[in-house]
Amino acid sequence: MINIVLFGAPGSGKGTQSARIIDQFGLYHISTGEVLREHIARGTELGLTAEKYISKGHLIPDELIIDLIADVIDNDAREAKGVVFDGFPRTIPQAEALKKMLEERGSKVHSVVGLEVPEEELVERMINRGKETGRADDNIETIKNRLEVYRNQTHPLREFYINEGNYLPVNGSGTVEEIFDNIANGIEAATGETRRSRR
Ligand code: AMP
Repeated sequence: MINIVLFGAPGSGKGTQSARIIDQFGLYHISTGEVLREHIARGTELGLTAEKYISKGHLIPDELIIDLIADVIDNDAREAKGVVFDGFPRTIPQAEALKKMLEERGSKVHSVVGLEVPEEELVERMINRGKETGRADDNIETIKNRLEVYRNQTHPLREFYINEGNYLPVNGSGTVEEIFDNIANGIEAATGETRRSRR
């Protein structure tokens, strides 16, 4: 299995770049945010719990997210060549749980692609996304909380993965294609895989 973590602040372009990575490398996409939004839309028990946290810009408790990921790895992604984790892990306990889960399945995180974008640009992108898509947590109050949560709980993972030796920093400002090209070069170097086509 080839496992790529797409890491970065909210608004850094994880969703956009994930779509290209899965297309070009044939991997399975897991976006915890998207899975949670689907649960909210369907009105499931998890959705009802998740909505309370998401609307405030807070993180869903680790146990819930870790169970959800284990389920996806063992069911939906079982036959996949590999997985792109988008928006997970977001805390040190989640990163440790992922490491253990993959070790138990004879695998590891091959590369952590860190999309690095200045904060002013993040806010502008999320405000625009909110206008275009109507996404409920893309409003200025919730955005501020999400960035604070990112700084306190998620940003420390950068150091965690630098120590693990698999952190790949990528400049997340620029055109979607330029950014993807840098990501794809890094993934190719880390995994020995090649993208399907060069534009
Ligand atoms: P995203 O679509 O990745 O920006 O996630 C939207 C929201 O879903 C976040 O602000 C969190 O409230 C929640 N969420 C998504 N992924 C996680 C995670 N790995 N851990 C905890 N909460 C999460």
